Amino acid sequence: MEGALTARDRVGIQDFVLLDAHTNETAFLDNLKKRFSEDLIYTYIGTLLVSVNPYKELDIYSKKQMDIYMGVNFFELPPHIYALADNAYHTMMSEANNHFILISGESGAGKTEASKKILQYYAVSCPSTTLLDSVRDRMLVSNPVLEAFGNAKTLKNDNSSRFGKYMDIQFDIQGDAVGGHILSYLLEKSRVVHQNHGERNFHIFYQLVEGGEEDLLHQLGLESNCQHYSYLVQQDECANVTSINEKNDWKTVRNALSVIDFDESDIQHLFGIIASVLHLGNVQFEADSKGYATLNNNTELRWVSTLLGINVQVLQEGLTYRKIEAKTDEVLSPFTVDHAIYARDALAKAIYGRTFTWLVNKINDSMENKEPSRKTVIGLLDIYGFEVFYVNSFEQFCINYCNEKLQQLFIQLTLKSEQEEYEAEGIGWEPVQFFNNKIICDLVEEKHRGIISVLDEECLRPGEATDFTFLERLEEKMGSHPHFITHKLSDKKTRKTLDRGDFRLLHYAGEVTYCVVGFIDKNNDMLYRNIKDVMRQSKNAIVRECFASTESDSRRRPETVASQFKSSLLGLTDILMSKEPWYVRCLKSNESKQPGRFDNVLVRHQVKYLGLMEHLRVRRAGFAYRRRYEVFLQRYKPLCPATWPHWRGVAAEGVEVLVQHLGYLPDEYKMGRTKIFIRHPRTLFATEDAFEV
Ligand code: ATP
Ligand code: MG
Repeated sequence: MEGALTARDRVGIQDFVLLDAHTNETAFLDNLKKRFSEDLIYTYIGTLLVSVNPYKELDIYSKKQMDIYMGVNFFELPPHIYALADNAYHTMMSEANNHFILISGESGAGKTEASKKILQYYAVSCPSTTLLDSVRDRMLVSNPVLEAFGNAKTLKNDNSSRFGKYMDIQFDIQGDAVGGHILSYLLEKSRVVHQNHGERNFHIFYQLVEGGEEDLLHQLGLESNCQHYSYLVQQDECANVTSINEKNDWKTVRNALSVIDFDESDIQHLFGIIASVLHLGNVQFEADSKGYATLNNNTELRWVSTLLGINVQVLQEGLTYRKIEAKTDEVLSPFTVDHAIYARDALAKAIYGRTFTWLVNKINDSMENKEPSRKTVIGLLDIYGFEVFYVNSFEQFCINYCNEKLQQLFIQLTLKSEQEEYEAEGIGWEPVQFFNNKIICDLVEEKHRGIISVLDEECLRPGEATDFTFLERLEEKMGSHPHFITHKLSDKKTRKTLDRGDFRLLHYAGEVTYCVVGFIDKNNDMLYRNIKDVMRQSKNAIVRECFASTESDSRRRPETVASQFKSSLLGLTDILMSKEPWYVRCLKSNESKQPGRFDNVLVRHQVKYLGLMEHLRVRRAGFAYRRRYEVFLQRYKPLCPATWPHWRGVAAEGVEVLVQHLGYLPDEYKMGRTKIFIRHPRTLFATEDAFEV
């Protein structure tokens, strides 16, 4: 007995629901810390999985481990990401419905790693046929490819996701993983032309320059030295990352591309694009006698011209002039040097951003399952986490808004809907208080009144509006909002000072000060029409495809970046709301990426804003499982002679007879108006096991 107690003391408790009923935040943290110090990074709150980033390789992801978790009841083994993946899979199989796994947490907390572990689990442990192996291989290798093009080193994370990713894994009726589909969200393409000090561009540039074979680099006109490319050098240096091996990563990506159906010409075109972006960054302009931009070094431009297959004169004109349409004809208006640099960067961002979308489509084609048979899916959501830097811009604004939306979804699906359901079903219930971040979502996205609307309105006043008039408008409209502060308002609301060009939002996860510089430009994301026309002449098939939309022909104003993002997040919410949720909450153990260090203050902050204590309270007082009487009876009626093969009366009464027969204790379940509620999954597992006896 004593031995057992000691063991429990040492490793903590694996499900918070089982901790003392009056668990406070300190006890919650002690338990996490105790487990973390024993390399036990996973803990449950009911069926929700909490994961603490260990910042070191743990020997818990082997094939042997996967086998251990396969088909075993959730609570029989120590908590693991495989257990959650397996439970979602088996529930999907037995109930024939769709599920999703929401992985959340701030930048560097371990979301992408968690999503990779889940995908590996499905790819390795689901039943297999040789035919399907290729689909699985493609799903697995899509990860390194998308990470190469969509991830980068930031100050928070050496491999930070700079795009949002939702991936459906499709299963057929036998439970085989038979296909996949990815939706990507707002890539941070400003990174292509500018990175903050200590950060890097997307990994693929370094992989190509440092890992690329000599003759390939020669063909692309590249030097094997990152310092040579101004898009890779910020403030005279090229940030290096000790945790990354470019040469190995390059091999992995090259190999992955051949697995997902890239032929030699695709590969040539793709790397031609990456190289042309680097050359474009080195194109310099000089002012002529009238102050207009001319090109002073044609070598780099010639490389862009060769790689994209565009006449060099045409390209040069596109970079130094803008076509303005007058009433009857077109006028060429020359750029100043600053304007030319702006147009060059806009082109580099557009080429890269569109190529990324093309890549996602290409990967989707290769993972597509064309069989018309019935399929169910498990969706994996891995999106950029909440982030706060010294200077925060439009990109952080979008990323943090996205995190607000996901938190809102979590609240709606767990805290709110759960409590509403108890009420609707007439189950006695003491409401749990929680902070609802809807107020912040509204502040950002409300029609006609939210920050995005104000920004869009300012974007409609070209020539007049500036980032600063945008800020003034915000002050006029949001001044009294409790989650919005600016310099002018700061005295009244807080003692902390703010710069004149900043506004501060009190997000659910903490305060973030945004600098308005660049908001208007980035939201407009303008690319002049004539440069688009130039790109359409490209002999590079990918570029041609990327610019071949009808969008540039239309005179209508394209939707702004923030509005597009807002609609895509609404679309995502709809996709998720139609599926059964599972949650992984990732916590960052320390800011310095040190193995095994548990920073109490940092973890406590995350526990607080993620609402884990509230979730625990709802879970503990609530019921883990509920089913409509008819569904429950249909599934379990063989276990009781009185209900098998048919129960002729009211379903609720049949269920009562059934659970009495199974020996459910009064505290283990409650009968609602239309559903039975079961307090703990254990009860249900025992019932499932009764089938096998
Ligand atoms: P972002 O929002 O910036 O994309 P993220 O939450 O996706 O962040 P990850 O990239 O998954 O963060 O994790 C950051 C780093 O932490 C990883 O590169 C890895 O070094 C380490 N890490 C995360 N999870 C684990 C794990 N389970 N085991 C070992 N190391 C881990
Ligand atoms: Mg990530």
